[in-house]
Amino acid sequence: MVSRVIPVDPFDLVIFGATGDLARRKILPGLFRRFCSGQMPDDARIIGAARTEMSDDEFRDMVRDAIREFGGGAYEDDALDGFLLHLGYEHIDAKGDDGWEALKRRLRDGLVRAFYFSVAPSLFGSLAERLRGFGLADDESRVVVEKPFGKDLESARALNRTLAEHFHETQIYRIDHYLGKETVQNLMAVRFGNMLFEPLWNAQYIDHIQITVAETVSVGGRGSYYDQSGAMRDMVQNHLMQLLCLIAMEPPARFEPDSVRDEKLKVIRALDPVDYHHIVRGQYASDDNQPGYRAHVDNPRSVTESFVALKCHISNWRWAGTPFYLRTGKMLKGRASEIAVVFKDAPHSIFGPDAGTHRNVLAIRLQPNEGMTLDVTIKEPGPGGMRLKDVALDMSFADALGPDAEDVPDAYERLIMDVIRGNQTLFMRGDEVEAAWNWTDPIIEGWTRRGEVPKPYEPGSSGPEDALMLMHRDGRRWREIKV
Ligand code: NAP
Repeated sequence: MVSRVIPVDPFDLVIFGATGDLARRKILPGLFRRFCSGQMPDDARIIGAARTEMSDDEFRDMVRDAIREFGGGAYEDDALDGFLLHLGYEHIDAKGDDGWEALKRRLRDGLVRAFYFSVAPSLFGSLAERLRGFGLADDESRVVVEKPFGKDLESARALNRTLAEHFHETQIYRIDHYLGKETVQNLMAVRFGNMLFEPLWNAQYIDHIQITVAETVSVGGRGSYYDQSGAMRDMVQNHLMQLLCLIAMEPPARFEPDSVRDEKLKVIRALDPVDYHHIVRGQYASDDNQPGYRAHVDNPRSVTESFVALKCHISNWRWAGTPFYLRTGKMLKGRASEIAVVFKDAPHSIFGPDAGTHRNVLAIRLQPNEGMTLDVTIKEPGPGGMRLKDVALDMSFADALGPDAEDVPDAYERLIMDVIRGNQTLFMRGDEVEAAWNWTDPIIEGWTRRGEVPKPYEPGSSGPEDALMLMHRDGRRWREIKV
C-alpha cells in the first residue's frame, strides 16, 4: 500500500510571527515536511512577517537552522534548498502601517491566500484590520488563529467579535492541534466506520469513560504564561473538551465541517455544571531533585493548578448516567494521552462467583505509540475449571500500517494543508469555543470565590491522592499511567 499524497492548490501563505517559537518549531518544519512529501505545489509561496528586520536570505537562513533543529527525520540538503526557494520575508509591525504595501505586492491574484496569526491574541485585531484596510485580504482569504482563544467567555467573545468585523466565520480557522492528530481523527473512523462499536456506544452498555492527558514535563519556559492560565484553561477547556466531544457526539450526517461541529457543540451544551466536590486541583511540589511548580513560575504564593481531575455528566439520551472522568497534569509519572471506554459487566455470569468480574475496555492511545487496545475476557488456559482472565487485543497503528505510518503528517502539517484546501472540519467554530468557556468559567470562578488552593502532589506520581479518591468513591479506578 502506498500512501496517497494529493498536492494542494497553489497558495500564498503569510505567517505573522514567523520569527517566533511556534513558527520555528512547528509551522515551518511542518511545511517543509509537506514539501518533501510532494504535497506542496511548485508555485506555493510562504512569506514570513514580523518586526525584526531581515532580508529574504536572512529569513531563509533562520528557517534552515530551524529545520535542522526541529525538522525531525532524515532529508536531503537539496530538498531543504528547494524548500527555501519558496520563502520570502517582509518586516511588518502589526500595529504600524509600514510594510503592508510591500507585502501586498508579493501576493499573487487568483491563488489561495492564507494568513497565519502566530502572534499574541492581542494583535489579532490590528492584523485583521490592516489586512482588510490595505486590501490584502478579500472574502476568499483565510485566517488561522492560535490558542489560547481567550481566557474566559468574555475575552473569547471579544476576540470572535473582532475577527467577525473583518472576516466571515467560514474564513476563520481556529487551531486546536489535538484535532490534527491522526489518532484523534481515528476516533471518528472507529466510531462511525465500524458497525461493531456504535450500537454499544451509550449509557446502557458503557459504565464510564476516562480521558487522560498526562505529561512528564514541567511548565518549562512557559512559566509566566502558564501561571496566568493553569491546566483548566491550557488543557481542559480546549484539548480535553475536544476529545470529549469526539467520543460523545452523535453521528454527524456527513463528514463535513458544519455537520461535525454542530454535533460537537451539542455535546458541550449538554454538559452539566460540575459539582465542586467532583473536581480536584493539584500543583506539583518540589522533591530532592528539582524545585516545584511555584519555583518554576517564580511565584511563591501561586495557587494555579498544574493538574486537574474531574467528573462530569452529559445530559442527553445517549449519556444520561454515564460519568466522564477527565484528568490532565504536568510532572506526572508518564507521558500518555488515552481515552478509555469502560464497558459494563455482563448482566449475568454463567461461570459462577469464582470467575470474578471482568470488563471490556476499549482504550484509544493518542501518544505514545498511537493505537488501540481492546480488553476481552477469555478462559485462562489449562485444566482446573473455568477461570477467566482479561487479555488485550493490542494494535499499534505503526505495526498495522507498516511503512505508511511513517509518512503520517503531524498535527500542524495536516491542519495547515486543510487551511489551504479550505476544509474547516478539524477547526473550532466560534460558538464551540464560547460554549466551552461557558462551561469552564464557573469552575474557575468557584475556585477563586472559595479561595481554593491546589493540592500538592509529588513529581513523578499520578497526581494528588484526592484524584484517586474521586474514582474510588464511585467504586472505580483510574487506569495506570504507564511510565
Ligand atoms: P513568540 O516566540 O513570542 O513569538 C511571537 C512572534 O510574534 C515573533 O515572531 C515576534 O517577532 C512577533 N511579533 C510580536 N509582536 C509583533 C508585532 N507587533 N508585529 C508583528 N509581529 C510581532 O511566541 P510563540 O511561542 O511563537 O507563540 C505565538 C502564538 O502562538 C501565541 O499566541 C501563543 O500563545 C501561540 N501558541 C504557541 C505555541 C508554542 O508552542 N510556542 C503553542 C500553541 C500556541 P518580532 O519580535 O520580530 O516582531
